[in-house]
Amino acid sequence: MYLEDNQYNDIREAIRDLMKQFPAEYFRKIDEEKAYPEQFVNALTQAGWLAALIPTEYGGSGLSLTEATVIMEEINRQGGNSGACHGQMYNMGTLLRHGSEAQKQRYLPKIATGELRLQSMAVTEPTTGTDTTKIKTTAVKKDGRYVVNGQKVWISRVQHSDLMILLARTTPLEQVTKKSEGMSIFLVDIAQAMQQGMTVRPIPNMVNHETNELFFDNLEIPEENLIGEEGKGFKYILDGLNAERTLIAAECIGDGYWFIDKVTQYAKDRQVFGRPIGQNQGVQFPIAKAFINIEAASLMRYEASRRFDAHLPMGAQANMAKLLASEASWEAANACLQFHGGFGFANEYDVERKFRETRLYQVAPISTNLIYSYVAEHILGLPRSF
Ligand SMILES: Cc1cc2nc3c(=O)[nH]c(=O)nc-3n(C[C@H](O)[C@H](O)[C@H](O)COP(=O)(O)OP(=O)(O)OC[C@H]3O[C@@H](n4cnc5c(N)ncnc54)[C@H](O)[C@@H]3O)c2cc1C
Repeated sequence: MYLEDNQYNDIREAIRDLMKQFPAEYFRKIDEEKAYPEQFVNALTQAGWLAALIPTEYGGSGLSLTEATVIMEEINRQGGNSGACHGQMYNMGTLLRHGSEAQKQRYLPKIATGELRLQSMAVTEPTTGTDTTKIKTTAVKKDGRYVVNGQKVWISRVQHSDLMILLARTTPLEQVTKKSEGMSIFLVDIAQAMQQGMTVRPIPNMVNHETNELFFDNLEIPEENLIGEEGKGFKYILDGLNAERTLIAAECIGDGYWFIDKVTQYAKDRQVFGRPIGQNQGVQFPIAKAFINIEAASLMRYEASRRFDAHLPMGAQANMAKLLASEASWEAANACLQFHGGFGFANEYDVERKFRETRLYQVAPISTNLIYSYVAEHILGLPRSF
C-alpha cells in the first residue's frame, strides 16, 4: 500500500531490483512484437519467485499467499505484466492440494526449478462459457487411459508451458445427482498431446496475452495423470481459483499504483495555461478518487490472503478483492489516459499498453457480473438466478 509502504519491504525491494533489468520499455517492445517475455520469466523463475507457493520440501520458496500477492503487485507496479506467467504461481496449487504424493514428488521440484512449466489451465469452452458444469469435453476411461474429445477456448500460455491442467467430464451430466459432480482434472503433457490428438490454434487478441483454442480428437491421457479422485475435479478447480483471484487482484493493485504514479508525475510536470495541470481540482479529484479505491481494494486483498494463509474460508474475500481491484485499476487507467491528453495514446508512454492490459481483469478469470451473482446468492442469500 501507498500509505503504509513498509509492509513486506524485503520482497518489494528484491522485485524492484529484479525489475530494473525489465523496465517498461522491455514490456513495450515485447507487446509491439507480440512476443513472450522469456528473459523476464526465466529471471523470475531463477530467483525462485514463481515457486513462491511451492513448499520448501518440494524445492519451492514456501512463502505465504500474502507474500505472493506482493510479488505480483510489484511486478505490475514497475510497469511489467505478470499475466505472462502468473499461471505458474497458482496452477501448481491444484497439484499440491489434490495430487498424490508420487505426482507431487515427480512434478513439483521440477516446476520449482523451472525445468517444467505448469502455466496452463483449460476450463473454458466455447459453447458453455461461464456455465462450467455444462462443459462438453469428455474423458472416457479405456484400458488404463482416458480418451479425451472436445474443445476449449481462451487457454493461456499453452505454447510456453510443458504441462496443463485439463477439466473434462468423466460422467455424463444426466447421470450425476449434482451438476458439479462427474468432472475430473488431468495433468496433460502438452508436447506429447500435440503429437497425439490435441490441436492448438492461437487467438489474436487486444493484449499481448498468448491464448488459444484447443481441439481434442481422441487424445489419450495415462490413468496416472488423473489428479485426485475421479468426479471431484470441479471442486478442486474452485479451490485453486480463490488463490488465482487474490493474486490477480494484487496485479490490478500494482497496475493501479503504476497509473497513479505516472499520472501524478505528469500532472505536476505538464504546464498548460501557465500552471501545472495537476493544480486544477478537475484533474486532482479523479486521480485522488482512484487512489482511494486502490487503497481500499488493497486492504481487501490483504484480508483475502490473510484468511487463505490461516486456512479460513475466503471465497467471498477473494472474489470481492478481485472485483474491487479490477475496477479501481481501471478507474486509475482512465484518469491516467485522460490527463496525459494526446500523449496517453502514444506507445512510448506505456499508458495505452497498461490500459489494455488492466481492462482484461474485469472479464477474466471471472467476469464482474458473476462476482455480483456469487455475493448476492452465497453471501446475501438471495434466490439463485441460474
Ligand atoms: C485473455 C484471456 C485469457 C484467458 N485465459 C483462460 C485460461 O487460461 N483458461 C481458461 O479456462 N479460461 C481462460 N479465459 C476465459 C475466461 O475465464 C472467460 O472469458 C471468462 O470467465 C468469461 O467467460 P466467457 O468469455 O465464456 O463469457 P460468457 O460466460 O459467455 O459471458 C459473457 C458475458 O455475459 C455475462 N453473463 C453471463 N451469464 C450471466 C448471468 N447469469 N448474469 C449476468 N451476467 C451474465 C458475463 O458476466 C459476461 O460479461 C481467458 C479469457 C481471456 C479473454
